[in-house]
Formats: sequence, structure tokens, C-alpha cells
Amino acid sequence: MKFSRSLRTTLAALTIVALVASVMNYRTVGAEELRSVTRFEFTAEKMGVPVRVLFYAPSESVAEEAAEAVWARFDELNATLSDWDPESEIIQACRATEASGERAPISADLRRALEESRKFCELTRGAFDPTVSPIVKLWRRSRYFHERPPEKILNEAKSKVGLDVWDLNEDGLRADPGVRFDVGGIAKGIALDEALRVLQARGVYSALVDASGDLRIGDPPPGREGWRVGVSSLDDRPAFYCELSNVGIATSGDANRYVEIEGVRYSHIIDPRICEPLTTRCVGTVLAPTGTTADALASALCVLGRDEAPEVFAQILRAEPALLDESRFDYLLLEKSGGVGESDDYVVTASPRFLKMYADARASGEASSAVRESE
Ligand code: AMP
Ligand code: MG
Repeated sequence: MKFSRSLRTTLAALTIVALVASVMNYRTVGAEELRSVTRFEFTAEKMGVPVRVLFYAPSESVAEEAAEAVWARFDELNATLSDWDPESEIIQACRATEASGERAPISADLRRALEESRKFCELTRGAFDPTVSPIVKLWRRSRYFHERPPEKILNEAKSKVGLDVWDLNEDGLRADPGVRFDVGGIAKGIALDEALRVLQARGVYSALVDASGDLRIGDPPPGREGWRVGVSSLDDRPAFYCELSNVGIATSGDANRYVEIEGVRYSHIIDPRICEPLTTRCVGTVLAPTGTTADALASALCVLGRDEAPEVFAQILRAEPALLDESRFDYLLLEKSGGVGESDDYVVTASPRFLKMYADARASGEASSAVRESE
């Protein structure tokens, strides 16, 4: 448990901190426009995490109505996608198709979440997979009992994971018996995109929504180039800061949810290709045009690791110009290869832009020490 204290502090660092500059710092916006909008901030617990909405709006009544609409959308998506709530549509749909042997009709929100999940499973060559649910559940139990799941039960669960155990068509969902979905690796991203859409529908464009480390960012604050965001490192200081607008940025890692058994540290992130938890301590951040893409790819980044991520991401950039383009795609992966109690060195793998920002911050003393760059 050598790292537990720093890991608790890393939990705070994992929440990408958006530092909003005061409107006093305006450069290009006239006084009239600055007077006409005020900065608002709302917070609530949604999808099991604290969520913060920051935006500029013309009046308190517009702001309050917009925030209420955002919370309502979060609640709606949670009722559809939660793998904790046995009444959620995603669980009920699996049960229904299992019980009847027929396709279960599904809502537009669930269809979208499953279609997006399937797409990212294919694009990441199985590193992101929404069917990891049975494995995730077995390891949640392990965090409680501090022992590996029994091999026999693990093997049974493995047969419920993959692209071939389910499909969708216009009539709905078909899944093999025992298949369950865990869209926890993408649901916050979907909700963040929806939150921004809800705000924009009310004329609120300068906005940032922060679901504990996964952010969706709209237009910059009035008179600013962007929202200042700190990118997570493996300790309690951000790796570097950047000014962002009109992107999603998400962070995955095993900072707080893991279990140590006989000197091995098992993450809450599963490698679906072998149905085993990651044992390399890591934090991965992805910047992408949407929250959905950033969230799914951040989870995949940790699984792919330094050996596979650069090639898989380059392939997605080549093959999916509508999803990712060089101007709005970056990633930073920090991996610690030693086991529990081993050295503090870690390896950095990043897109060229993020690697430079990381190196510059390090040179100026802003970033953490004890780093080896892998490329
Ligand atoms: P995130 O914080 O977005 O990386 O999501 C992590 C959550 O996604 C975990 O707590 C699991 O519920 C689920 N999960 C774990 N491993 C995977 C994976 N390889 N692909 C998709 N979802 C995963
Ligand atoms: Mg994710």
C-alpha cells in the first residue's frame, strides 16, 4: 500500500481542473458583450460522480433553466445506461432478450450508446469492449474479498465477452444468454455531449461540463482563447495546462479503483482481449472532437498501452476522418511499469503536440519528475 496516499491525492488530479479566467482578462470582446453575460456554475452528483457545469448566460433565469435541463438529461441517460441500477433499460433489455429468445426493442438513446460502443470496439481492435461487464463484476467482488475470482467462474464469464455475443438490427437487441453490458467507459462522454447540446439549444455556447475528469468544452469564455484545463499526471500535479475550446477531453486510469493481491495491483480497467485487469499503473488522457470519442478512446488508451496505442490511433486517424482529425486529436499516456512498491519511474507515450507540451512543462518545472519518454 506504499502508493495509497499519493493515489488518493491523484484522485483529485484525475479530475481535470478547468481554471476559468476572469472576464477582466478580456482581449477582443467589447465591453457591451462582457456586460451582457455572467459566469454561472452549477454542481450535482450524476452518474455516480460529481458533475460541474460552467457557462456564460445572459440572466440567472436562463442559467437555472439550462442547468435543470442538463441535470434532467443526465438522469434520463443514467436511467437508460446504468449498470448499477437493475431497473435500467440496458439491464432490462438484456434480461428481456434472454427470457424471450427474441430481439428486445430499445430506445434511441440505448441504440446510440450500443452502436457507438460497438464502433469503438471495432476501431480499437477490442481494447474497448462494452461486454466486459461479467469480468468487471467479478473483479469488483475481488476488491471486496481481496482474492482473484475462481478460474472456473472467470472462464464461464469470458465466454460472454466479445463482438459476436450480441448484435443490433432495426427490431432491437439480440444477446447470448448471460451477456451484460457495461458502458461505464463511454456513458459519461455521451452524457457530456448531450449536456453541451442541451445548453446550445438554449443559446448557451460558452460552456464547459466536467464529469470528474471527463470534460466537454464548447466555445471559450467571452474574450478568451479557450478554457484552461490541466491534464492529469500520475501524481497530484497536472502534467501541463492547455487552453481548449470545442473539444472533449477524458482521462482514464487506475488511481483509485484497484485491488492488490499477493503483490499484484489489479486495475478496474479490464483488457477484454484476455479478460484480465490491467496490472500496469497508468493514466491516459485523450482529446477528441467529442466527449464520446474522448471517453471511449481514453479507456482504450490504457488497455492498448505504449506498445499498441500509437499504431491503433494512427490507423483510426487514417480510416475515420469524420471521427478524428489531427487538429483535434491528442493523447498522453503515463505508465508505471514496476509492480507494487517498485521504482517511481514511468514511461510517457503521447501525440507530438502533447509530448511537446509535457516536455515544455517539465523543463519549466511545472510537471512531475522521474520520467522516461518512450518516443
Ligand atoms: P473509464 O473511467 O471511462 O475508463 O471507464 C472505466 C469503466 O469502464 C470501468 O469501471 C468499467 O466499468 C468499464 N470498463 C473497464 N474496462 C473496460 C474496457 N476495456 N472497455 C470498456 N469498458 C471498460
Ligand atoms: Mg472512458
